[in-house]
Amino acid sequence: HGSEAEKESDDEEEEEVESRVGEWFRLSGTCSLVLHRGDITKWYKDGKTDAVVNAANERMLGGGGVDGAIHRAAGKGLFDACFKVPEVSRGVRCPVGSAVITPGFNLPVSQVIHTVGPMYYSEGDPASVLAKAYKNSASLAVKSGVKYIAFPAISCGVYGYPYDEAAEVSIKALQDSAGQLSEVHFVLFEADTYSAWLAEAEEKLERLST
Ligand code: ADP
Repeated sequence: HGSEAEKESDDEEEEEVESRVGEWFRLSGTCSLVLHRGDITKWYKDGKTDAVVNAANERMLGGGGVDGAIHRAAGKGLFDACFKVPEVSRGVRCPVGSAVITPGFNLPVSQVIHTVGPMYYSEGDPASVLAKAYKNSASLAVKSGVKYIAFPAISCGVYGYPYDEAAEVSIKALQDSAGQLSEVHFVLFEADTYSAWLAEAEEKLERLST
């Protein structure tokens, strides 16, 4: 992809999720929270220290929703890398609440962090598992040299998590764990998830002018 200068001259039809636009808030310390509406497979920052998070499943071999979109955009390299991740138990490469990192292959970002959120109507406490998925993704990112990360609304698709509850859990979890990241972005696919995250950020965080 092009230089910053080339991107500036692009018109408004630009399909990429412009990482400089969006709604900016102070998350914690020097880390910003940035909210966008769009397709996370189009998001990137510098192609070197950036990562998108995939709402994967325990097998890590692709699926529907954002998982399918990320695998389609990243290409077969991503499938092969996921296949090579050792199983920790039968068929399980990434247990619920944990995170695994791979390269981004054909995606514009350098890395993909795969995490598995809880099903809302499963046994146990979905909020603590969802918080773990966000925190483990953020700490794996920091450990791997990632500075800019973009999350989808983990568990808010087929896993059935209510948007407002997920927005609250995710922002709180990231406030506790994102200290060493420069920017945490959310790229939200539909109007309802976007407005839930925007409402939560407006209530809890200080807005930054960009
Ligand atoms: P889960 O199984 O964790 O619920 P889903 O992929 O079903 O995962 O949904 C998670 C969220 O990702 C949903 O809000 C869904 O609309 C959204 N989503 C789907 N495709 C994309 C995409 N290309 N970019 C960003 N978000 C997406």
